[in-house]
Amino acid sequence: MLVHAYGAHAGDKPLEPLQIQRRAPGAHDVQIDIAYCGICHSDLHQVRAEWEGTQFPCVPGHEIVGRVAAVGNHVSSFKVGDLVGVGCLVDSCKHCADCDEGLENYCDGMIGTYNFPTPDAPGWTMGGYSEQIVVHERYVLRIRHPAQDLAAVAPLLCAGITTYSPLRHWHAGPGKKVGIVGIGGLGHMGIKLARAMGAHVVAFTTSESKRIDALSLGADEVVVSRNADEMAAHAKSFDLIVNTVAAPHRLDDFLVLLKRDGTMTLVGAPATPHPSPNVFNQIMKRRSIAGSMIGGIPETQEMLDFCAENGIIADIELIRADEINAAYERMLKGDIKYRFVIDNATLGR
Ligand code: NAP
Ligand code: ZN
Repeated sequence: MLVHAYGAHAGDKPLEPLQIQRRAPGAHDVQIDIAYCGICHSDLHQVRAEWEGTQFPCVPGHEIVGRVAAVGNHVSSFKVGDLVGVGCLVDSCKHCADCDEGLENYCDGMIGTYNFPTPDAPGWTMGGYSEQIVVHERYVLRIRHPAQDLAAVAPLLCAGITTYSPLRHWHAGPGKKVGIVGIGGLGHMGIKLARAMGAHVVAFTTSESKRIDALSLGADEVVVSRNADEMAAHAKSFDLIVNTVAAPHRLDDFLVLLKRDGTMTLVGAPATPHPSPNVFNQIMKRRSIAGSMIGGIPETQEMLDFCAENGIIADIELIRADEINAAYERMLKGDIKYRFVIDNATLGR
């Protein structure tokens, strides 16, 4: 079936209306009418070919929420009308050690929601800037938030899980001092989640204008990272730092803020590498630099349920489809509090 979508024909071209083909639901598939889709900075990296291997036309979007429109014969856990979400992955091999442990995000056969190979036309996956998507039931998440929060739930599907997973893996909680670097889509969720887990949360921003806001998001303290004195006041004090910055920068500035055995987890994925950190900053206090990629399906469901129980949603600005290109420019300037979400009902107009 043909559906309305928004995508780009080349890395240096704006996104524009297009029509794409969706498969008829198979026995294990869930067909979803997409209500809203968040705009992740990864969408911009991919559609502008800042990362390698973009296939065009490219339809981004992996913060998808909507209602079930149809289910295949063998689908028992979802029914028509259910509120559901789809995040960054729509398939995986289903039999490796990673899949067996529910860490499908680390499966070598992981299929991302856009720009990954698929038997469906045109040969690569197309994301959530579209009216509908058809996904194997294993990769569909249940949404337990009230329906009126649906648009603000969309960003949980990537920004939420990408910060939740490292916070859980490195045991953010009471008695732990946790830093969140970069207050964008990911960072603002990281602040809310770390706070809800009971950690002492310090937000790092390059934007003086976010100093007050970060406190209202739930940070206990805010540091403007361009200010050396403010940074020095936190030397050797963090258990964990989650770094969401979408551009290369000096990691040493944050490494020296970790206490002995502390970890800085990189989740930001800039198109060009960070300058190499000074190895002595790791050796001297047995510090680690780590990485983390989104989360598996069971953990994504756990995160959604945790957010529903704790009343956590994203701070969003709802936009029409024809505002996507302008939204990308504003995201690059950091001019967003804190996630753009597309009203998918505007795609076909
Ligand atoms: P975003 O909304 O644009 O936020 C990034 C934030 O980084 C900015 O708001 C800004 O916060 C800070 N920043 C500081 N210097 C910057 C600079 N020169 N350029 C851009 N940002 C700068 O992006 P996002 O959607 O949160 O994504 C952040 C990064 O994570 C992207 O690289 C994205 O591709 C990546 N990502 C990774 C995963 C994963 O699985 N690891 C998943 C999703 C996204 P301040 O104003 O507070 O300084
Ligand atoms: Zn994302």
